[in-house]
Amino acid sequence: MTVFEQSFDVLVVGGGNAGLCAAITAREAGARVLLLESAPYFYRGGNSRHTRNLRYMHDAADGIMTGPYREDEFWDDLLRVTKGKTDEPLARMMIRTSADLGSWMMARGVRFQPSLGGTLHLGRTNAFFLGGGKALVNAYYRKAEALGVAVVYEAEVTDLAIEDGRFVSAEVVHAGERHSVRASALVVAAGGFEANIPWLREHWGEAADNFIIRGTPYNQGHVLRLLLERGAMQVGDPRQCHAVAIDGRAPKFDGGICTRVDCVALGLVLNRHGLRFYDEGEDFWPKRYAIWGRLVAQQPGQVGYVLIDSKAVGKFMPTVFPALQAASIRELAGKLELDPDTVEATVTAYNSATRPGTFDWTVLDDCRTEGLDPPKSHWALPIDTPPYYGYLLRPGITFTYLGVGVDARARVLMADGTPSDNIAAAGEIMAGNVLGEGYIAGIGMTIGSVFGRLAGKEAATHGAH
Ligand SMILES: Cc1cc2nc3c(=O)[nH]c(=O)nc-3n(C[C@H](O)[C@H](O)[C@H](O)COP(=O)(O)OP(=O)(O)OC[C@H]3O[C@@H](n4cnc5c(N)ncnc54)[C@H](O)[C@@H]3O)c2cc1C
Repeated sequence: MTVFEQSFDVLVVGGGNAGLCAAITAREAGARVLLLESAPYFYRGGNSRHTRNLRYMHDAADGIMTGPYREDEFWDDLLRVTKGKTDEPLARMMIRTSADLGSWMMARGVRFQPSLGGTLHLGRTNAFFLGGGKALVNAYYRKAEALGVAVVYEAEVTDLAIEDGRFVSAEVVHAGERHSVRASALVVAAGGFEANIPWLREHWGEAADNFIIRGTPYNQGHVLRLLLERGAMQVGDPRQCHAVAIDGRAPKFDGGICTRVDCVALGLVLNRHGLRFYDEGEDFWPKRYAIWGRLVAQQPGQVGYVLIDSKAVGKFMPTVFPALQAASIRELAGKLELDPDTVEATVTAYNSATRPGTFDWTVLDDCRTEGLDPPKSHWALPIDTPPYYGYLLRPGITFTYLGVGVDARARVLMADGTPSDNIAAAGEIMAGNVLGEGYIAGIGMTIGSVFGRLAGKEAATHGAH
């Protein structure tokens, strides 16, 4: 009997962090679980295999993190970055429910390591995975398979039969054949639509052709589209996404974390005309890095250029590509194919606007500009010490926020606000419920882990099919 002829209680679509947390939880609750993953084995784990850390609340240093990070601080951070575009009861529930994540994960094979340094000041708030997201995903697959979850790779869900908000069956294409899979409950954890350039183009126009997709090419958003077409409630703005400034030499898909350019707050960022366009030192990097992809996306040609001098070297994690290097600002401008006169004028104006202060990378220091528009609010040292370095920047899309509405049990809400009887959602596909805009480092995995477990628990209550 093939796996498609067997009976399952719970069908999980998507084998990243959210789907795996759901599958493990449902199986531990006694359900027979089938997990379908559209990618081949090698690419299993979606965007989750690129991650490094997650954020969860804790009342004290816990052996993984260096100090307390309580509900109210987590909530304040979320409120600030989303500018209020979040669902407070749902977000607070998520934060509270995150408290036992560290121990839950370790009990299922995930290992942690001390916080990485560089420009991410995260030692107190975020737990770093030993071996990164790839090791986390491998641990979860090992656990899921040991528990008896059936996993099929290269199995793409192409259609969903949903009647009156109730899941009936899924159409799956595997090895060139179509199958119909029935289960008592469905968990959708198939990511956002970030890898679907035509869909991005619907909202960004031709600019989308210049976007680089940092993660898996398999997050095409087909399951999200199916749910919305079958009557699920839409949440989130289709233009909102997590997008960072990455090295313009990164591959079109799946370049991962090592292409991110982390020296923005230590330097100046110019557009194609050699002009600054945003405060590079507005706030700590973990609270600001995720806005730079959108900022670059709004510039002509969807490109930016970051300039630093030798004082910045060693203070940030370099990308996998070496920076362009020059002995003068004019020479660097030439190498970046920018107009040397304008770039020199921009840097000179900035240098004269910097005010003396005590540079301290670990706090919001008093090194700032005066009379400059836009200002640089912190870490504003003159760019005056050769050699100078530059990177070409492009928008690197991490994940989109458009999703389906969910309730506090991770049940998918239908357009009229009633929860689906047997469909739950977790991860990127519902991230827009708590992330209306903005981002704080590590919350993508919090969302997937918390709602993944809730979705698995909820789906398992539907019993034998
Ligand atoms: C480079 C990078 C670094 C990141 N770093 C961090 C970090 O350090 N901390 C953090 O919190 N977040 C980070 N994120 C964000 C994080 O990866 C996501 O928020 C999280 O992994 C989403 O989990 P998920 O399970 O929803 O999606 P995914 O892990 O992407 O899993 C979705 C899965 O669904 C599968 N799928 C899609 N469509 C179908 C279909 N039709 N049928 C079957 N399967 C389908 C895909 O193949 C994929 O495997 C990072 C993302 C990237 C790209």
